[in-house]
Amino acid sequence: MAQPMNPYDCTIVGASFAGLACATTLAHAGHRVLVLERKAEAGEKLHTTGLLVKEAVESSALLADLPPVLVRRLEGVRLYAPDLRAVDLDAPGYYFLATDTGALLRWMAGRAEEAGAEIRWRTPFETAGKLAAGFTLGRIGSTRYLVGADGPTSRVARALRLGVNREFLFGIEHEYDVRGIPDANRLHCFLDRRIAPGYLGWVVAGVGTVQVGIARRERGGAAREAKAALALFLDKIAPVFDFRSSPPTSVRAGLIPCGGVVRKAFAERVLLVGDAAGTVSPLTAGGIHTALRHGAAAGVAIDAFLGGRSADPGSRIASAYPRFRAKRLLRWAFDRFQHDGLANALLGTRVVREAASRIYFHRGARR
Ligand SMILES: Cc1cc2nc3c(=O)[nH]c(=O)nc-3n(C[C@H](O)[C@H](O)[C@H](O)COP(=O)(O)OP(=O)(O)OC[C@H]3O[C@@H](n4cnc5c(N)ncnc54)[C@H](O)[C@@H]3O)c2cc1C
Repeated sequence: MAQPMNPYDCTIVGASFAGLACATTLAHAGHRVLVLERKAEAGEKLHTTGLLVKEAVESSALLADLPPVLVRRLEGVRLYAPDLRAVDLDAPGYYFLATDTGALLRWMAGRAEEAGAEIRWRTPFETAGKLAAGFTLGRIGSTRYLVGADGPTSRVARALRLGVNREFLFGIEHEYDVRGIPDANRLHCFLDRRIAPGYLGWVVAGVGTVQVGIARRERGGAAREAKAALALFLDKIAPVFDFRSSPPTSVRAGLIPCGGVVRKAFAERVLLVGDAAGTVSPLTAGGIHTALRHGAAAGVAIDAFLGGRSADPGSRIASAYPRFRAKRLLRWAFDRFQHDGLANALLGTRVVREAASRIYFHRGARR
């Protein structure tokens, strides 16, 4: 197994949060980095609401000079019971950022390219063959290290017999071109087992758009069922927010892994990061923070390996992935015992407000 001449140091599959964080870090360190992306450009076919939690913004060096025009600050949550009674949850100092997600991803791709990474758009990864010290990628060339940042149904994982995600929510969201909403500085979340079993619905005043979506347990036929459930959701929330007479300007939809980290996230010279590795919170379904964090950490560790300063970092990186033990337990309980009557009766209680605040803000609510 001879190594072909002039291989890439690292090839990363997927130009989204995890892949671009990894690529930028490695390119800054001076490596020859190739990113393969099947989309035509970073902002095409979005499949995320794109909310950034405070921790993601404040701990990611890559977002340090995020242009303010790409984001809008949300400072609290309004949580609605199935009967539409609501409680406000606030934690002083905590915030979420709604994003112009397409523009954010374009900006991140631009940063990766400025650092020296080569991004090949419209170039799906299909398969890889093992070499003595890396992989061949067919006509694309060869690479000393391979990173699968290719999302919930990772092709890299399947091609290299790594672990795959097995449990999912399915999320679907409409964007509306409407002039704001009441209490636009809050994230509006709706519990309803019939419409959004296993998760919830939401309304967010984003950047120049209003995003309205639901996510629900995936049980086959997900896209069709979710579309019908979103129509029910729009009817249900009409007394609070009525979008029924405005045609959506676009749709974002996709699978959300919710079963925790995959069984085998690495092998020799290959590593999965982000949704490919299952690093999505099983409870909140947020995965951008961990994708950015572990994507960048993988870049630092692969740099040290390629520079001969450390052993293959796969096992070290994967062992730092969150285990989500408590959140998986709560997901298990929520899947089985979610009950609209109980939610109606208990939402206003102190215990439930405290618990909800811990989930949203990682700490208690202000009363
Ligand atoms: C409806 C919905 C709403 C969500 N809202 C939020 C939210 O508000 N906040 C949050 O934190 N999380 C949210 N999530 C989860 C979040 O979107 C993901 O955790 C995050 O996008 C993971 O980033 P990633 O880079 O690992 O993978 P992805 O964003 O899935 O990116 C994978 C990339 O790989 C590319 N790709 C796939 N296969 C190939 C291939 N064979 N060859 C080349 N390229 C390939 C894809 O085109 C894509 O660009 C949401 C998810 C959904 C579905």
